[in-house]
Amino acid sequence: MSISLEDTYVEVILPVPVEHGFIYRIDKTTQGIQDITIGQRVLVPFGSRMLTGIIRKTGIEKPNYETRVVKEVLDRVPCISIELFKLLEWASDYYFHPIGDVFKQFIPHKDIGLEANKFYKISSYNIDLNDFSSKEKELIAYLLNKKVLSAKTLVKRFNKDIINRLYKTGILEVIFKTPVKRSTDSGKDQTNTYKDINEIDSITPTEEQKEVIDELTNHMKTNTFLAALIMGVTGSGKTEIYIRLIENAIAQGKNAIVLVPEIALTPQLVNRFIKRFGSMVGVVHSKIKSSLIKDTYQRILENKVRIVIGVRAGIFVPLKHVGIIVVDEEHEHTYKQEDGFRYHARDVAIMRGKLEHALVVLGSATPSIESYYNAQKGKYKFYMLEHRVHNLPMPKIYVIDLKREHPHKIGNEILTKPVVDALLETFSKNKQAIIMLNKRGYSASIVCADCGHVEKCPQCDISLTYHKQFQRLICHYCGFSEPVFNKCPVCGSPNIKPIGIGTQKLEEEIKRIFNNINMIRMDKDTTTKIGSHERFINMFSAGRILVLLGTQMVAKGLDFPDVELVCLPLIDVGLNIPDFRSGERIFDIIMQSAGRAGRATPGARVFIQTYNPDYYPVKYAVEYNTELFYKTELNYRKDLFYPPFSRMALIIFKHRKLESLKHAMDIVTKELNRIDKDIKVSGPVPAPVGKIKGVYVYHVLLKSTKIQPLIRTLKFFNKIFKTLIPEISFTIDMDPQHFI
Ligand code: ADP
Ligand code: ZN
Ligand code: ZN
Repeated sequence: MSISLEDTYVEVILPVPVEHGFIYRIDKTTQGIQDITIGQRVLVPFGSRMLTGIIRKTGIEKPNYETRVVKEVLDRVPCISIELFKLLEWASDYYFHPIGDVFKQFIPHKDIGLEANKFYKISSYNIDLNDFSSKEKELIAYLLNKKVLSAKTLVKRFNKDIINRLYKTGILEVIFKTPVKRSTDSGKDQTNTYKDINEIDSITPTEEQKEVIDELTNHMKTNTFLAALIMGVTGSGKTEIYIRLIENAIAQGKNAIVLVPEIALTPQLVNRFIKRFGSMVGVVHSKIKSSLIKDTYQRILENKVRIVIGVRAGIFVPLKHVGIIVVDEEHEHTYKQEDGFRYHARDVAIMRGKLEHALVVLGSATPSIESYYNAQKGKYKFYMLEHRVHNLPMPKIYVIDLKREHPHKIGNEILTKPVVDALLETFSKNKQAIIMLNKRGYSASIVCADCGHVEKCPQCDISLTYHKQFQRLICHYCGFSEPVFNKCPVCGSPNIKPIGIGTQKLEEEIKRIFNNINMIRMDKDTTTKIGSHERFINMFSAGRILVLLGTQMVAKGLDFPDVELVCLPLIDVGLNIPDFRSGERIFDIIMQSAGRAGRATPGARVFIQTYNPDYYPVKYAVEYNTELFYKTELNYRKDLFYPPFSRMALIIFKHRKLESLKHAMDIVTKELNRIDKDIKVSGPVPAPVGKIKGVYVYHVLLKSTKIQPLIRTLKFFNKIFKTLIPEISFTIDMDPQHFI
């Protein structure tokens, strides 16, 4: 066989951090397939390396410079659908991140998805075998005997170079066909799946659930985009709705993406999906062994995986025919990537839904203000699940004012008497408690009782956290650490003491009060090992452990029937962070925690200790008055021109020399204020943590009523800035979530 193509030129996106594609030639030496289309992977020379790229444009005019040649077209069917391709282009553009780098993160590895449907055969039977080396002869003889062989098998027996050489001579021909079922699939695949589905038919959707399922299923039949927000407390049956909708999508021949904030924290949800859908489910997650991920991707490209469950990066999986995208706990800030490619997976999900003409379902007990507002305005369809499925009441929330009730009165550092009593009562009934404190380590910091000196990280502008177990002070930003000192480095006083609390110190206190009770501490320090989340969760589920103590990770998605008490010993942590979303976060954390209690029995309780019992998010959370909370919060946002009433972009400037940075900031201010009068420019100001890893950081915040002028301004700024002050680096953070 021979490739009869005229030379043709294509634009290829390569996995390098640049904002443009590269032009290559396809000629008769190019191996692979004849049909060239957008989204196919190609192997091309780049410098001295070979890179896998993706075709972005075909039929490009011959450029007036020397071009290199595509070595091989790897895919027959594009591995990335046109919809996903457009999504990646949009995301690169919207989030100001180089397209090469965006694709780099999401192009399936070149070994994936290919060998499965690629087969070789001998194209001609009149071969003069004398022209070939002995190894080549061996291959020819072997293949003549077998007639057709999958590339996978052939590569196992013969060197790739030999195959390629023969391919070039035209002796070998590539054909593509649907792969034979792999033996490992056969038993499991379909049969089991449907057996499981039958089993769950014992659950009959409630009227509330049925309405949502029916309406949205009908909508899916129209193959048009729709976003829906389902607001309902934990236990109100949201997950069951997702499952039914996905079942119906699959029946309509479509596929599904389910995003969760963190896989490790949602084993129960994942298990439920696997139980219902069997091997149709693929879980993509950075901590899963890479060979498993490869296998999952392989199965996604073969359309064997029809439902992908993933964390934020899951929104970019190369799944085709996406008919439904579910974003569970849509308000979670983990959906926003905070470095590099700073995308927000929920917002990308909406965009993917538009491009795929799919249904996007956002679910949460405490939706983000943005989504709530969109629902109110009618942009999203809104469903409210008023009741818990099993009609359990939400636990009663008690607030303890730390200004009045002192833990010290009873010889404690952290826990007050009502909380200790509640814990005792819970343990006496052999029930479990969850304690959530959003600060790991032993204590917030170490302070000199004489001069008040608090040791800060020399590289970051933030106080160090005391970790007793290591006898070190650790920076939670950059990881810097130093031994604990016994004399104040400023005044020399030996009067050094820890202030504030962390999970580690709280653990000590609980063990002291409750006689070495069986407990687990779950935070970043104790869950570094792969699988440790799952292990802890399983241990707690087994019921021998009475207390699960940890950072916010214990407040999420978990479902333990025996938990009767949830304590938040200090919700004020983080309140003084200058962030307009802190009210929303407090409300969310209280509601989430309440959702963890009493999932199976009535009479569960939640205790909150705080210095700010009158702060409106606390007040409304205690009363479960979501409506009033959202109303108050929206008013506040409106008054201060914060999202959703404005669109924001944060520009982050960094430099090692403060003077150069300050100088640059003067120029920046002048330019930015000039571009568009309707854009509100705040700053430049030093970032709240003004120095990170030895680099000074300044922020400029841009606000605009509409998104388009904001993007125009940023694009313009992006262009001029590089020539204006090339020595200063900056990053654009669209729709920023954090301001530290
Ligand atoms: P959410 O996702 O809102 O927390 P779930 O869908 O997990 O709610 O439902 C809570 C519990 O109730 C689960 O154990 C689920 O299996 C069960 N459940 C959900 N819907 C029904 C139903 N219609 N009938 C009986 N049990 C249900
Ligand atoms: Zn001192
Ligand atoms: Zn630091």
